[in-house]
Amino acid sequence: MDFQLSEEHNMMRASVKQMLSTYEHRKKEWREMTHRDHNFNYELWNEFANLGLFGCLVPEEYGGNNSGLLALTLAFEDICALGFSPSLMLVTCMDTACILKNGSEEMKRRIIPGVLSGKTILVFAVTEPNAGSNTFRIETVAKRNGDSYVMNGQKTFITGVEVADYMLVVARTTTRDEVVAKNLPKSHGLSLFLVDPKSKGMTKTPIPTVATEGVYQWQLFFDNVEIPAENLVGVEDQGVMAMFTSLNPERILVGGICCGMAEQAITMAVNYAKERRVFKDTPIGAYQGVQHPLAEAKIHLEASRLMTYRAAWAFDQNLNPGIVGNYANQAKLLAADTALEAVDASLETHGGIGFAEETGLAQLWNGARVLKTAPLNREMILNYVAEQDLGLPRSY
Ligand SMILES: Cc1cc2nc3c(=O)[nH]c(=O)nc-3n(C[C@H](O)[C@H](O)[C@H](O)COP(=O)(O)OP(=O)(O)OC[C@H]3O[C@@H](n4cnc5c(N)ncnc54)[C@H](O)[C@@H]3O)c2cc1C
Repeated sequence: MDFQLSEEHNMMRASVKQMLSTYEHRKKEWREMTHRDHNFNYELWNEFANLGLFGCLVPEEYGGNNSGLLALTLAFEDICALGFSPSLMLVTCMDTACILKNGSEEMKRRIIPGVLSGKTILVFAVTEPNAGSNTFRIETVAKRNGDSYVMNGQKTFITGVEVADYMLVVARTTTRDEVVAKNLPKSHGLSLFLVDPKSKGMTKTPIPTVATEGVYQWQLFFDNVEIPAENLVGVEDQGVMAMFTSLNPERILVGGICCGMAEQAITMAVNYAKERRVFKDTPIGAYQGVQHPLAEAKIHLEASRLMTYRAAWAFDQNLNPGIVGNYANQAKLLAADTALEAVDASLETHGGIGFAEETGLAQLWNGARVLKTAPLNREMILNYVAEQDLGLPRSY
């Protein structure tokens, strides 16, 4: 085993840190802009593009640098550890992975250059009011009609639609009733489409939420939305495997985000605990009651890193998607728990000031908390491990 990061990984980290250090003085302004006003940070987005982060998963023949998911995960971790946000880079990169693996040659040549330059923003739409944890229950339908598909249905909690150029939408090309009638496996009948959010027949309503910055979550309605047939990603009715080429990197990148959040929270707590004096002249960091929760969070952070890096490595090695998915799920669960643990310990260390907006800790709590539930909740991961790893029977 080799626990060393490569020269390329270290160079990527150094360039991310160097770029972000030049924006340290804008952090407060940007936090207000994104958290309070929900405005998208195009300036930082373009910097990410300039660093080549959108090219990490893209082979050189399509203009990328192909440095891999581990490099991108490390970048996500550093961005969050330094108190910035990768925002929609998560969904844009996971959709890019899906297009590269499943899209037609024409689609790759049409979409990828815009992604690399930062001009094209992609989001992901699977959740519906009656289908969150259970994707197979989705009801949005796309029916072939000549050279196009016609989409009807609705989606909910879709992040960033207001700034997106395309949404990667999961829809049914065979309905659930048809699947049951033909005795087909329940995974049959899903297909992926690139949909322009400005298409005729699309309407959207924002869902005010507290947990994400710079963008809104949306309820979407598709009323006879026409989608060119060339925007089908992969094979009709066979979208489930294609979908997981998106969802596995998503979970791994969430692991990276959570590790970064935990690092940020612990660093803030340690700096504060070294200075804050409450009894006599002893800094509160000398009290073991303050030290131990931070030390525990630090140990769990190291474990989360190892699991997240292993999952990213497995993806980069092109291991079986089932193995990658198992590693990704476990890493996501541990890292999300660790982020919450670390932010909680940091809040406790800060006392009252931790809840003042200026520290940013309360916002960090919201951000970490949502990642326990989304994109995949803790319970579904535990179900998966119980069933797949431990061989226990399924109850649902
Ligand atoms: C801020 C935010 C951003 C989001 N962005 C997107 C996006 O961009 N695109 C998108 O498609 N979706 C998005 N989502 C949706 C998100 O992926 C779903 O909320 C998530 O998958 C859970 O689905 P649900 O909310 O319908 O919960 P439900 O499926 O209704 O589950 C509710 C709870 O029940 C429990 N539960 C359910 N089933 C089981 C079971 N079998 N065993 C044990 N416990 C169970 C779990 O605790 C779960 O949290 C976003 C959500 C949030 C909050």
